[in-house]
Order: sequence, then C-alpha cells, then structure tokens
Amino acid sequence: MEVTIKRFTPLPAGRGAGMTRMKKLSSIVVFCGSSEGNDPKVLQAATELGKVLAERNITVVYGAAKIGVMGKVARAALDNDGRVIGVIPDFLLLREVFHPELSELIITENMHERKLKMHELSDGIITLPGGFGTLEEFFEMITWAQLGLHQKPIGILNTNGFYDDLLKMLKKMVSQGFLKKENYEMILVDDDVEGLLKQMEEYVPLPLPKWIKKDQV
Ligand code: AMP
Repeated sequence: MEVTIKRFTPLPAGRGAGMTRMKKLSSIVVFCGSSEGNDPKVLQAATELGKVLAERNITVVYGAAKIGVMGKVARAALDNDGRVIGVIPDFLLLREVFHPELSELIITENMHERKLKMHELSDGIITLPGGFGTLEEFFEMITWAQLGLHQKPIGILNTNGFYDDLLKMLKKMVSQGFLKKENYEMILVDDDVEGLLKQMEEYVPLPLPKWIKKDQV
C-alpha cells in the first residue's frame, strides 16, 4: 500500500479549532504510549479501540509510530479497513519508526506543530495508557479546552484502572481550589471503548472562564 506524504502547513488562526463541536465524531486523535507497557489488557484495549473506530468509520489520528500501544491501535484500525492518519515530526521520522501502511502520513517540523495538526484533524480526543508524552498531549488538549480554545470531547480509556491515581490527583486539585469542578468534569472516563464513545457523542461542552475565584470553589 502506498503512503501519501504531506508536509504540514498550519491553518489560518481560528480554522480547524473545533469551536462548535459536531455531533458525529468522524475523526479521533488517540494519545497513548510509544511503549507497550506490561499489562496485556492495555494492548487488548488498544486493539479493540482501533477495531471499533474502523468499524464506525471514524478516522484515527495519532503519532504515526508502528511501536508501542500506538502501533497496536493503528494495526487494528488498518486490519479492519479503517482510515489512519499519522502525524510525526521530522526528527522522529528519521528514526524510521513510522508505520509504513498508513492511509496518510503528515510530517511536521516539530512536536508543537504535530500536536496542533493532530488537533486540527480531530473531532475528539482519546487517551490510553502511556508515559510522559501521552500525559503531555492529554494535558495540553484539556488545557486548551479549559481556555475555550476548543470544545471537543476528551476521553480517558481507563483500562484496568490505569488512570485511577491521576484522577485522584486531579480531584485533589479541585478540593484544594486549583481546578474548577466543571473543568475536571470535562474529562470523560470509561473502562469500556463503547461506553467511552457514547459519552463522547453525548458530550455537551461548557463555555467556562479559566480562573477560579474564592467564591467559585
Ligand atoms: P510516551 O507516552 O512517553 O510513550 O509518548 C507517547 C507520545 O510520544 C506519542 O504520542 C508521540 O507523540 C511521542 N513519541 C514518543 N516516541 C515516539 C516514537 N518512537 N515514534 C512516534 N512518536 C513517539
């Protein structure tokens, strides 16, 4: 299969930022580990997610790697005739880790452009287990949502309770007045792929100011 390679050009400001969320999710960006980890349930969940997205004709947008949890999502989507767009910066491409069978491969100059492009291409965000890179991508997207830069549904596939401790930490931020409860509640959590997609489809975004006043906590 031939891979279409495009060089990344940023869209003009405001376009593609998803200010008004479409009801139907036609593409989802998946953030997850470039390592496989050691819980087989995580890899099963990655495979299930790729398969379900393909079956529902939802394009998978992701970091283009053929390795780790990322590679499993892409493999499963491609095996089920899904459309998979990989977005990768030059320097990672040079390490030859990109998936050679992608529907489309978009090359960016750096990690920032990569994240922006993945955002532009997606109607929603799903985070699976991963490491620093995964968390960084997740937190940037939720921060942009908090600032009202987009209103897309942001889901965590909490396989085997992987994110329980993180969610506990975030609740502490709420109880200590650093995070608004409503903003915490923007995060949709489910341990089941279908359940998470249902929550994402039904998600009603809240336009909220970022800063917390004492009387708001
Ligand atoms: P991590 O959660 O630290 O494993 O990082 C996952 C994210 O880091 C991915 O979504 C990518 O953005 C990036 N990343 C790290 N290593 C690679 C790689 N070898 N190929 C592609 N992306 C990678």
